[in-house]
Amino acid sequence: MRVLMVEDEKYMAKAVAEILKKNHYTVDLVHDGSEGLAYARSSIYDIIILDIMLPGRDGLTILSEIRKIGIGTPVILLTAKGQIEDKVKGLDFGADDYLAKPFHTDELLARLRALHRRKPELRNNGVITFGDIEFSPHTLVLKCVKNETMLKLKEGQLLELLIDNRNIVVSKNTIIERVWGYDTEAEDNHVEIHISRLRKQLTRVKSRISINTIRGAGYTLTGGE
Ligand code: CA
Repeated sequence: MRVLMVEDEKYMAKAVAEILKKNHYTVDLVHDGSEGLAYARSSIYDIIILDIMLPGRDGLTILSEIRKIGIGTPVILLTAKGQIEDKVKGLDFGADDYLAKPFHTDELLARLRALHRRKPELRNNGVITFGDIEFSPHTLVLKCVKNETMLKLKEGQLLELLIDNRNIVVSKNTIIERVWGYDTEAEDNHVEIHISRLRKQLTRVKSRISINTIRGAGYTLTGGE
């Protein structure tokens, strides 16, 4: 799962980002509102954690801008004490949740899990099912009937992305953006290596799911019917 965090309190933001990473989230962290808006507009994120008071653009402006262009990514607003009005405005502007600062990271993690659960109908208690497999993005355990294996983080993110985009072709560029992020040196061959590893993992648990290569276009997941 890919999270964008826009928060200008650098020390706090870094600490939170570290904890999110330990919990298997991929985190892009920016400290400035204008930059935050540019990242948020990319629509590659599963969740955006947005501070309200920011240099450049404030969080509420970012939120209303992205909603205006139709980006429905769930947003958690971070509010400081005494910003009740902002909280109300934020929910009106299309925030999905808010968290008052200072907050405990366990609470943030719980909110993230809750927002994640609202995602596609294929998910049940955070576990994604597709065809004969069950996959938990939190524990990275992949199950097929009685067999199970543990995926590496990037393999898991790749599988989640392919399942979310079942029935359509996912390009290598999209995979790089979603799994590696913007600031990356990753290239097509990284994608190929990880696709190959994920195929081996699917074979290991004896799943009927297969990742098909669509020459020149990308990959598509089949076998879910
Ligand atoms: Ca701030």
